[in-house]
Amino acid sequence: MHMATNSETIITLGFEGGSVDLRRKPSTDGTWEYAVSRNESAMADLLSEEDEDLIPMLVSEPKHWVPSFDEGMRLLEPYHWQRCTPYQIHPEYRNHVWDHVVADRHSFRSMDRWARACGVSYRPDLVTLADWILASRSTVVLTGAGISVASGLPDFRSPGGWWRNIDPTTVATVVALHQDYDTFHAFYSHRIRALEGLIPNPSHEILAKWEGQGLISAIATQNVDGFHQMAGATTVYELHGSIKSVRCSSCNQPATVEAFLSKTPCAHCAGDLRPNVTLFDESLPQDAWENAMKAISVSELVLVIGSSLNVYPANRLPRMTNGLSAAINLEETAMDSGFNLVIHGKAEDVLPEIDQWVQSSR
Ligand code: NAD
Repeated sequence: MHMATNSETIITLGFEGGSVDLRRKPSTDGTWEYAVSRNESAMADLLSEEDEDLIPMLVSEPKHWVPSFDEGMRLLEPYHWQRCTPYQIHPEYRNHVWDHVVADRHSFRSMDRWARACGVSYRPDLVTLADWILASRSTVVLTGAGISVASGLPDFRSPGGWWRNIDPTTVATVVALHQDYDTFHAFYSHRIRALEGLIPNPSHEILAKWEGQGLISAIATQNVDGFHQMAGATTVYELHGSIKSVRCSSCNQPATVEAFLSKTPCAHCAGDLRPNVTLFDESLPQDAWENAMKAISVSELVLVIGSSLNVYPANRLPRMTNGLSAAINLEETAMDSGFNLVIHGKAEDVLPEIDQWVQSSR
């Protein structure tokens, strides 16, 4: 269609009875200026070819030019662009437009068409969780071994997670500690050494950032690796203790990790040393358990990340909220149906995307 100004269309949006273009033209200082033009296409369709010279009357010439794309987007506000159909978006502008869509996401009935027009893929379930996190006044996160897999530490249940093909639930026990200390010691020496040089991954860092931003009130973890604290989180309830400290299994006196690794007996009573983890047949540390329960009982959202939820009693915690519950896990778990929202994927993939949605609305 002929336009008097030397401008090109960068966005065309359809609405009932017509369409509107955001156009650009070079400005004198070498950048771009932006303006809108409206096309009453429904009426134009009714015109015969002989009446073509009438068309310019139906296409409003861009009049008011503004010096930035963001101001150009504001010129589209009277057309309620969020309700329009995006017919075309110039490739150079797709990312910019998507930024506007993200920032204004509560005004959309459906963002799918906009995501397609902007050439981005997005998962509505991640947006939902981001909105829940933003709306909740008290969110508790429960983490399991899956969140640390991206740091290079295998979980227990996934293929490859087992040590010497032994089920950890048979060796990480008080029974093994007393009756087969060699295997118990070899297992935990292996686990302590496996942690050497490993660092938290983006999932731990995002949770620590959310805590700092007041978006989550506590992290209850089944992990013994200390990664949440290393990433900077401060309110961390270690439900299964920590592999980073050691005590005597007889007199409970503290000892060093080095003494444990070298199988040195307790300096006080010559008893066998053990890491300060909760074994499968032991009760949880009372403080951590009670703090986690307290925080969850008043929470508006509980988010479980990277846990098969096979281990009792930590797997009871998500149900103790009166609020919403969500889970992020690579695979399905037997508990999936108990959650309001389940997101299947790797924590290190989905959390950064959720974080983008969260940060874009803060
Ligand atoms: P689990 O091994 O039973 O389950 C881990 C879950 O994480 C699995 O369902 C798996 O599908 C999922 N997963 C794997 N990779 C993932 C990823 N990248 N993103 C998201 N999910 C992923 O672990 P659990 O439920 O924590 O229970 C195991 C027990 O073993 C706990 O008591 C824990 O103390 C101990 N453990 C701790 C560590 C650790 O400290 N990092 C590691 C292994 C086991």
